[in-house]
Amino acid sequence: MEADYNPEDAEVENPLRPHSFSEYIGQDKVKENLSIFIEAAKSRKETLDHVLLYGPPGLGKTTLAGIIAAEMGVNMRITSGPAIERPGDLASLLTNLNEGDVLFVDEIHRLPRTVEEILYPAMEDYALDIITGKGQMATSIHLPLPHFTLVGATTRAGQLSAPLRDRFGVLLRLELYSPEELAKIIVRSAKILNIEMEPDGALELASRARGTPRIANRLLKRVRDFAQVMSEGVVTFQTAKVALDRLEIDELGLDSSDRRMLEAIIKFYGGGPVGIDTLAAAIGEEAITIEDVNEPYLMQIGFLTRTPRGRCVTKAAYLHLDMPVPESYEESPQQKLWGEPVS
Ligand code: ADP
Repeated sequence: MEADYNPEDAEVENPLRPHSFSEYIGQDKVKENLSIFIEAAKSRKETLDHVLLYGPPGLGKTTLAGIIAAEMGVNMRITSGPAIERPGDLASLLTNLNEGDVLFVDEIHRLPRTVEEILYPAMEDYALDIITGKGQMATSIHLPLPHFTLVGATTRAGQLSAPLRDRFGVLLRLELYSPEELAKIIVRSAKILNIEMEPDGALELASRARGTPRIANRLLKRVRDFAQVMSEGVVTFQTAKVALDRLEIDELGLDSSDRRMLEAIIKFYGGGPVGIDTLAAAIGEEAITIEDVNEPYLMQIGFLTRTPRGRCVTKAAYLHLDMPVPESYEESPQQKLWGEPVS
């Protein structure tokens, strides 16, 4: 398999992708820290230390890697953990880099172990130690590499092996965006796509985009179709609302898969706790999708808690779904710890 790959919207020509920190909305702490590290590396005329970006999908990790490369004035090569199948794939990627380049590895937690092992010396000493031949004929080749910055992205930092995690100098966690930040992103995207947008139309879309720029941009494109037919191409509050209702995205941004999941926990498991694999089997979803896509937002809005015994829905989720809260409902110690869930 080709180790170079293009994820859904990693292609360079994606017009909505910001190219500089000033266009990149939100994530202020991450941006501030990164700009300092970049400035310092540049003034020392060194490459930037390796960076690990983690957080749910669609929050701007690939975009940020591109901005790092642009700010450092270097090129970026994009690949992903599962695309690098053999040590040789990694070796050919690394030896083809130019001095200072950024190598972006998406889903880095899925790198095969054998590849990970040759990545360690590459990250630490900018060299590859490759063994060719077998038994007594085996010889080790020491191959110097250009200095490079590895930017790794993962939805699950916990699954990264400790030796790999320790080799990143900079670890940054991306957070879900606030509706106000998403509204700014939507207004910016609408301008680029030439879509006329009223401010409360943008806010309505933003409040249903579950904290995720990729979803915000996707909803914008769908709503544009409704606006063309309903309101002469202008996205108003009303068009946004009607379009999102038709798309079965409710006023908190939950889609049918979120609702199905919450309903399953309530109907089949008395509100929880239920283990992730049991739940996944019950609703015919992959456990990974539930963990990466559904859960972060449901937990953020206080509809779901994770306990050592499994997932539990909160009172707020019962109320949102218009389902009767059982009399026996009791908050788990974790829920009590975090106080009343926000709805
Ligand atoms: P990830 O790599 O985390 O899955 P991406 O970097 O591919 O996410 O971002 C998804 C889309 O969301 C991009 O195409 C980009 O247009 C948009 N986007 C992400 N973060 C921002 C941001 N901070 N400001 C503006 N647009 C953003």
